[in-house]
Amino acid sequence: MTQLSALVLFSGGQDSTVCLFQSLTRFDRVETVGFDYGQRHRVELECRATLLERLKTAFPEQAKRLGPDHMVDMGGLAALSQTSLTRDVAIEMTDRGLPNSFVPGRNLLFFTYAAALGYRRGIKTLVGGMCETDYSGYPDCRQDTMDALELALRLGTETDFDIQTPLMRIDKAGTWALAAELGGPVLVDLIIENTHTCYLGDRTTRHAWGYGCGTCPACELRAKGYNIWKTSLD
Ligand code: ZN
Repeated sequence: MTQLSALVLFSGGQDSTVCLFQSLTRFDRVETVGFDYGQRHRVELECRATLLERLKTAFPEQAKRLGPDHMVDMGGLAALSQTSLTRDVAIEMTDRGLPNSFVPGRNLLFFTYAAALGYRRGIKTLVGGMCETDYSGYPDCRQDTMDALELALRLGTETDFDIQTPLMRIDKAGTWALAAELGGPVLVDLIIENTHTCYLGDRTTRHAWGYGCGTCPACELRAKGYNIWKTSLD
């Protein structure tokens, strides 16, 4: 019987951690890939390794399906794109109505690199935590963008790649609920303590929802989702 395998774009953030855990319940074999693109919140790269270790300890059954982790150096992206994610400037809205944390083409490149890796590893399912329901307005998180990219990858590699974005239609409160449904309080705790979302890389302040500055767009979304989810449990 053919083994079902998936390659998960795993950043060390909340969304990709939920995607990774869900993939471990759906596929026979799961590999992970992370990208170093000169992000200011480089601490997320350190969180990745810790997260993978803690996942293995807390969920040994699921972790049996976990294959190698791959890191890809994409330092060139920081040199090309002047954004607040790769430079030490304040995060603010631009005159295009997008936060200046938008790294143009980032998700297009991530999936293209993931496809190149998947091609070599014999994995056609690529999983990412993109979400258009409750996000910062990044155009490369949209379903339409993902559909077009999937088609381009299929044509460009003559391989039937499948891009899966299980969080596309759910909001951040729904992501917390999904984590609780999939892995119970142990997974929720692991996400609070070990995932990183804050754009500024702040891990000095611990909130109920985890570490972060509490005021950047990523922290605000994460906190808001957590509070709505918590309230819904009462
Ligand atoms: Zn923050």
